[in-house]
Amino acid sequence: MVDPLILVTGAAGFLGSHLCDALLAEGHHVLGVDNLATGSLANLAHLKNETRFRFEQVDICTPFDLGRVAYIYNFASPASPVDYMRLGIETLRVGSAGTLNTLELAKKYNAGYLHASTSECYGDPEVHPQVESYWGNVNPIGPRSVYDEAKRFSEAAVSAYHRYHGVNTHLVRIFNTYGPRLQANDGRVISNLLMQALRGEPMTIYGDGSQTRSFCYCSDLIAGILLLAKSNEHEPVNIGNPTEWTILECAREIQSLLGITAEIVFKPLPQDDPARRRPDITLARQLLGWEPTVSLREGLELSLDYFRTCVAAEQSHA
Ligand code: NAD
Ligand code: UDP
Repeated sequence: MVDPLILVTGAAGFLGSHLCDALLAEGHHVLGVDNLATGSLANLAHLKNETRFRFEQVDICTPFDLGRVAYIYNFASPASPVDYMRLGIETLRVGSAGTLNTLELAKKYNAGYLHASTSECYGDPEVHPQVESYWGNVNPIGPRSVYDEAKRFSEAAVSAYHRYHGVNTHLVRIFNTYGPRLQANDGRVISNLLMQALRGEPMTIYGDGSQTRSFCYCSDLIAGILLLAKSNEHEPVNIGNPTEWTILECAREIQSLLGITAEIVFKPLPQDDPARRRPDITLARQLLGWEPTVSLREGLELSLDYFRTCVAAEQSHA
């Protein structure tokens, strides 16, 4: 009998492609879909001879049905602030119509369902570290709202399909995650600072760099997600690395890793940029026995070859 098919939306993206790899490594058959809005087929190029993997270019905002699936991982959505502000309406659409379309599929095929939610549901948090029971402090009309509110709508939709239709749903609230295949030019802090440092350019810090983030390496995140997908938990679970860094400390860590002292230039802080972010992962520890194992230093080291290749590709096109 053929192993039941697992659907991954956003498969050509940074996290979606790592998730496909992890599911294939577990022995599954995987169908990846993506509209390539922010992802790239280069992230799936290594799977071209993998007979258990199939890719279809699909925009999940239009209802679609490619046949029976046993599990759906819904990862489709622009994710970096630069991308989702450029693609504001598309982001609202994928987090509403796109999520509803994939939930309908889960209902139709009685498939399990895991949705990639985000720490952005907490907005600029007044509770620190962020626990799942905190409802958040989100500006519903500001520039980040196209992403934050779409993700909050998705959480409501996923919860409703569980409540009304008994779909076996899971919600992961992902905190800043990085690693190879993070788009080199998507404006996120790790990609920006590493690319700038490797190009020998000044490193850009928005505001005074005292705002904090907590950075999770991609393999840690995917391990937590696979455990959550198999659990009986239907309410949101934080998955992230609880070690908190100021953005300035993060820039210094990159400099120390590369053995450089690049110039730092300070630029205006974007509107509604959260002042702090740190997951409380008590729930993930208790429910899943999960915690991250890769430090920022180790994760940056593991990412270096990829970002060096990105800089080399830029220079060969220049
Ligand atoms: P990414 O941009 O690399 O991947 C997102 C993928 O979704 C892209 O390949 C894109 O083309 C695809 N996509 C967008 N709209 C689509 C549509 N309408 N139909 C089909 N495909 C579509 O970003 P990522 O960092 O890999 O994020 C993946 C998911 O994880 C997103 O849902 C994001 O919100 C969530 N997340 C990521 C982080 C992080 O730190 N990386 C943090 C919190 C949440
Ligand atoms: N940031 C920065 N310099 C950059 C890119 C980002 O100082 O070149 C800051 C940004 O203002 C934010 C933090 O780094 O405070 C994380 O930004 P990112 O875009 O990675 O994601 P966010 O967590 O804000 O969604």
